[in-house]
Amino acid sequence: MIIKCPKCNKLLEVPKEKLGKKEVCEHCEHIFVVDESVIYKETQTTPTPISTASSEIPKQAPSLPPISPIKKKKPNIVLRIVLTAIITIIVIGVIAVIMESQQQGESSYTQTHVPTTVTVASGTYKIEAGRYIYWKFNCKEGDRLSGYISVPEYDINVWLIQGDREFEAFKRGETFYYLSNVSAEKTSYHSIDCRLEEGTYYIILDNKYSWFNSKSPTIQLQLISD
Ligand SMILES: [Zn+2]
Repeated sequence: MIIKCPKCNKLLEVPKEKLGKKEVCEHCEHIFVVDESVIYKETQTTPTPISTASSEIPKQAPSLPPISPIKKKKPNIVLRIVLTAIITIIVIGVIAVIMESQQQGESSYTQTHVPTTVTVASGTYKIEAGRYIYWKFNCKEGDRLSGYISVPEYDINVWLIQGDREFEAFKRGETFYYLSNVSAEKTSYHSIDCRLEEGTYYIILDNKYSWFNSKSPTIQLQLISD
């Protein structure tokens, strides 16, 4: 005969003679009388509807099937949430990897960025007495102007002028401003290597001061954006 301890609910096997007598639970040491209430029946595990009035059974029976789908749905919802979370994490991860690779692409582009070189002036030019020649160029912030002007037999004025207004003043023979660190008066060889701020510039080979001699300067001038 199997009985159930009323305190700890553990099952104990006792001889049938114990019925109506006291028993000590070997698990929790609870002392109780072995009667019908403690006898363990396997049918006790069946749901309570069986003990209810028979008229209620048909009522509950149809309500049972909906209960089990609801119970099944709960893990489904949890599973869906978990799956959605996993998919979201994967999608975010993939986006992060793509963005990172794009950033790496940008940075490697910067690292391998080759400076662009634009030729401002190149060649040998004959400039008559009292005349000048010029090149106009636009410059981005920090561009480097690099090169030289050479007039082996004679000399020449080299002016670097910023802005149209100053160039107009130069053309009219008025006072004009030039970049003194890059310009040179009566030079036979002048090298240029400087960084410029953004703007419009004129490089002028000026033979206006000469009364008789034409000049044949060679100029090599580049604008480097790095
Ligand atoms: Zn017990």
